[in-house]
Amino acid sequence: MHDNLLQITDLHKTYRNGTKALSGVDLKLQNGMFGLLGPNGAGKSTLMRVIATLQRADHGQVLFNDVDSAEQPTAIRSVLGYLPQEFGVYPRVSAQRLLDYIAVLKGVNDKKQRKAQVAYLLEQTNLYAQRKQAVGTFSGGMRQRFGIAQALLGNPRLIIVDEPTAGLDPEERYRFLNLLSEIGEHMIVILSTHIVEDVQELCSRMAIMASGRIVRQGAPAELCSTLDGRIWQKQVSKAELAAYQDQFSVLSKRLQAGNIQVRVLSDVQPDAGFVAVEPDLESLYFSAVAS
Ligand code: ADP
Repeated sequence: MHDNLLQITDLHKTYRNGTKALSGVDLKLQNGMFGLLGPNGAGKSTLMRVIATLQRADHGQVLFNDVDSAEQPTAIRSVLGYLPQEFGVYPRVSAQRLLDYIAVLKGVNDKKQRKAQVAYLLEQTNLYAQRKQAVGTFSGGMRQRFGIAQALLGNPRLIIVDEPTAGLDPEERYRFLNLLSEIGEHMIVILSTHIVEDVQELCSRMAIMASGRIVRQGAPAELCSTLDGRIWQKQVSKAELAAYQDQFSVLSKRLQAGNIQVRVLSDVQPDAGFVAVEPDLESLYFSAVAS
C-alpha cells in the first residue's frame, strides 16, 4: 500500500467574533494513527473541518499528496472519510440501507460493487448481524462503528475522527480503537481527542494543540522522554494540597486512599518527600498545555 502525505502549512483562522481558532498550524502526517490532543476550545475541530474542506482557512495551505485542498476541494473529498463529533440524526432506516445510500452519495455507482463494499464494511465494523436493524436503535458504540463504516465507503485514504470515544463504555471503546488502528495501517487516520489514553494506546505520532497552536509534535515516547528526570510525585493530604499548588507547578492530582498523589514538574527535587517518576503522556500533556 503506498504511503500518503498530508502537509499543513501556516494555517490561520479567526472567526467573525474575533476568536482566533488557528494561529499558524504546521503539521506533516503519513500513514498511521495520528493523535491530535488538546483541551476543549484548542482549535481541533476547526482544524479537522479545514482539512475536510468543510471550512476555509484565512491563510495557509493543506496539501494531500501534493493536491491543494483549497484549489481542488472535490479531489480531497473523494479520498476523505470524516466522522464528525456530532453525527446528526439517526434515522429509522436499516444500517445496510443507509450505507448503501451514503455510498451512492460518495459516487460508488456500480450496484454490485456497492453491495459488496457495504457487506464488507458491515463485517469489518462487526455490525453484519445487526445490518437490518435501524441505526436509530443502535447503542453508542454501535453508532460509532457505523460512523466508521460510512467514513470508509468509497475507499478513502484519509480518515478524520473527531472525539470518537466520548460516551463509550470501556469494551466498546476498546473495540472501536482497535478498528481504527487496523485502518491506520493503510491510510492516514487523524484522531482528535481530549482523552490522553486514546492517544497513548494507539498513536504512533501525535501533536498537542493549545490556543490554536501546535505546542508539541512527534512520537509519544520521544515527547515523553523530553521530561526525563523532571516529573516528581508525592502523597500529600487534602489540607496540604493548596500550599503545594501555590508553590509548585502541579501537573496532576489523583485521589488515593484518602490522600492525594500530586505530580509536579521541576528541574530539581521539589522537596525531600518527592520521588522521581517516569514521565507519562498525561504529564507531558498537562505540561504542554500549561506552558
Ligand atoms: P476544539 O475542537 O479543540 O474544542 P474548536 O475548533 O471547536 O476547538 O474551537 C476553537 C475556538 O473557536 C473556541 O474558542 C471556540 O469557542 C471557537 N469557535 C468554534 N467555532 C466557532 C464559530 N463557528 N464561531 C465562533 N467561534 C467559534
